[in-house]
Amino acid sequence: MKYYSTAYRSDPADLRTAVLRGMPPDGGLYMPEHIPQMPPRFFGNLPLLSYREIATSLAHTLLGDDLPSGELISMIDKALNFDTPLVRLNDQLYVLELFHGPTFAFKDVGARFMAALMEYYSGRSGRELTILTATSGDTGSAVANAFHGAGNVKVILLYPRGKISHLQEQQICTRGANISALEIEGTFDDCQAMVKKAFRDGDLRKRMHLSSANSINISRLLPQTFYYFHAYSRLKALGVSEDPVIAVPSGNLGNLTAGLIAKRMGLPVRHFIAACNRNDAFPRYLKTGRYNPRKTVHTISNAMDVGDPGNFVRILELYGHSREFLLRDLSGWSFSDQEAREALRRTYAGHHYIADPHGAVGFCGIERYRRQTEGQGVYVALETAHPAKFRDTVEATLDIHIDLPPSLESVLHKEKRSVKMPAEYPALKQYLLEK
Ligand SMILES: *Cc1c(COP(=O)(O)O)cnc(C)c1O
Repeated sequence: MKYYSTAYRSDPADLRTAVLRGMPPDGGLYMPEHIPQMPPRFFGNLPLLSYREIATSLAHTLLGDDLPSGELISMIDKALNFDTPLVRLNDQLYVLELFHGPTFAFKDVGARFMAALMEYYSGRSGRELTILTATSGDTGSAVANAFHGAGNVKVILLYPRGKISHLQEQQICTRGANISALEIEGTFDDCQAMVKKAFRDGDLRKRMHLSSANSINISRLLPQTFYYFHAYSRLKALGVSEDPVIAVPSGNLGNLTAGLIAKRMGLPVRHFIAACNRNDAFPRYLKTGRYNPRKTVHTISNAMDVGDPGNFVRILELYGHSREFLLRDLSGWSFSDQEAREALRRTYAGHHYIADPHGAVGFCGIERYRRQTEGQGVYVALETAHPAKFRDTVEATLDIHIDLPPSLESVLHKEKRSVKMPAEYPALKQYLLEK
């Protein structure tokens, strides 16, 4: 499989190049040149397959030309070493819990697979790899966890100061060893812009082997297709005959892009719901056909605080830049913190289910869509983070007490180490060269 650039000014790359570069030199994003269809036989067997078996079939189809089968299987075992259960709330509503990984957010899936792939490639090249990543919170902790102790790989994380939760900050800043944290005086978009500048800096790239690890790296996106198939397989195993509507709490649109790729591979999803917080560039595009990113605003679902979502261009590519085609598969809205809080309360009162502030935005999306379709359908809400990760908001909203899982509790007591930096590229470059 080759990966082309969405800016069409760089040559297509093989998997190794696409993974190690992160972004093509022309500033676009890598996309697979074609999206393979899974055979009917695979779908027939799906209710009988384990998550690991599903992932193995998909990985062979997507990546089998590029990697030996044994390596692929060992990467899947490293990446998917936790469950993603489908929880039934009632006959029409299910939750796919994606937060049972080591950092309690769905980003563990993609980050762990990518780390395994990068370690494989950098080990073979013998050159030290520096991974530079902007994070709105959860990417940082997932990446820090996934790469901690990886041989021949150094990780530098940029996060917006004061705009991520205390727990997220502790997860990023207490790892040490090959993981460093930069506390940027700006927003997530500033962090992302600094990282993008580093990638476009030819001088820097000559002097160090740079790669990215946020959801713009194609190797994070592809494994995220696995759990969509897993959700479908669990629904079928429970005897649900209808094809689901899936709600995706969205920020940088990586999770949603993976879902749309899964659908293109043949997964029968009836409709997707892109549920955004007040950072509404994508819902406004769906409504008006115009893409006008705005400055990031801070919300209680902070891992979705993205003013200019990186994966938007990939979604456009998937649909030939036709909003009309896109709207056949997808609806999207923006919801306020107030609406998310109310959804948290309703989900708790109605189903005894404790969502987190990100998942709550997804529930808002389901409620909106159900009103339009007069209550029909079977829905799957993706739950992207453990409620304990956003304990303050959830406790205050529901008036309950939530215990932290022990591994999160222990992070709180470790010493924080970070480097403060203005949101200016020269400061980052100097840091990288001195390091
Ligand atoms: C990153 C994140 C999201 C948004 O996912 P994207 O792929 O950036 O759209 C949603 N919820 C949580 C908890 C996250 O960490």
